[in-house]
Amino acid sequence: MLKNEVDLNKIGTVFNIQRFSVNDGPGIRTIIFLKGCPLSCAWCSNPESQNKNKELLFNIKNCTGCHKCETICKMNAINFNTDNRIDRDKCINCGECVESCYPGALVISGKEMSVKEVLDELNKESVQFRRSNGGVTLSGGEPLLQDDFALEILKGCKSRGINTAIETTGYINKNIVEKVMPWLDLILLDIKTTDENKHLKYIGASSKLILENAKLMSDLGANIIVRVPIIPEFNCDIKSIENIAKFTKSLNNIKEIHLLPYHRLGLNKYECLGRNYMVRDDINTPSEETMLKFKKIVENIGLKCNIGAH
Ligand code: SF4
Ligand code: SF4
Repeated sequence: MLKNEVDLNKIGTVFNIQRFSVNDGPGIRTIIFLKGCPLSCAWCSNPESQNKNKELLFNIKNCTGCHKCETICKMNAINFNTDNRIDRDKCINCGECVESCYPGALVISGKEMSVKEVLDELNKESVQFRRSNGGVTLSGGEPLLQDDFALEILKGCKSRGINTAIETTGYINKNIVEKVMPWLDLILLDIKTTDENKHLKYIGASSKLILENAKLMSDLGANIIVRVPIIPEFNCDIKSIENIAKFTKSLNNIKEIHLLPYHRLGLNKYECLGRNYMVRDDINTPSEETMLKFKKIVENIGLKCNIGAH
């Protein structure tokens, strides 16, 4: 029997709440993005998700050059004579400059919220959820890096009859998988490659735990869709896709793979964080023809396959 009380006071760090999403589970969904990720994929389109702490973003395109931020910063972290303008070693992400920046060039990514505040936000969408058979999807980063917070949100959703999904890297302790699974209607599990060397080189972590967790989730009877970002020069080849599809097929309980073509939409966020985007300029979105070829490969192995967006 599941313990239903929800700890409404549990606090976590959220960096975005996105409404009316149709790509991350059934129906119309609200996506709660939690901050922090144990992986560091070079192509990450949400680089502000990776650090678990709050971070200052500076978008020079919105700056009018009023210098108010420079006067207000007690840490002397703003210097108009440097390219990035923000000295990240001095900045403590206090957000005081954000208050003074009327054009919105400075923004803090990450907000502490209680479970109650998150659930209150979700209540606003209850009619949409009901009408579209939609619900809530936890995303990140890796939402289970804040496992206690995520768990209370999921419990709160279930107690209100809201459908729940999670987008996960799978790079989490097995006991956390077991803890949250009873509260999830759908798991969207990223498997980027089954090649351990590539995983270590491009993602900065072993694939072992992810593949083991895929098996664990499948053995526990979870409803799982495997999602594969298709990244040129990493896994955009027949062998890589075949290996992921064969591994998925071997798990018995997973029937579907979504292939998500690489895009560069997060590029501007790297600039705002003062970070370099590590994917070369000549790496482009895979063609429709390539994606359809991979879809056929997955289907021939006996799985359903969609080409999606991420
Ligand atoms: S307060 Fe905002 S608009 Fe003014 S100089 Fe600073 S970043 Fe630019
Ligand atoms: S967030 Fe705080 S420390 Fe960082 S630049 Fe702004 S005022 Fe200075």
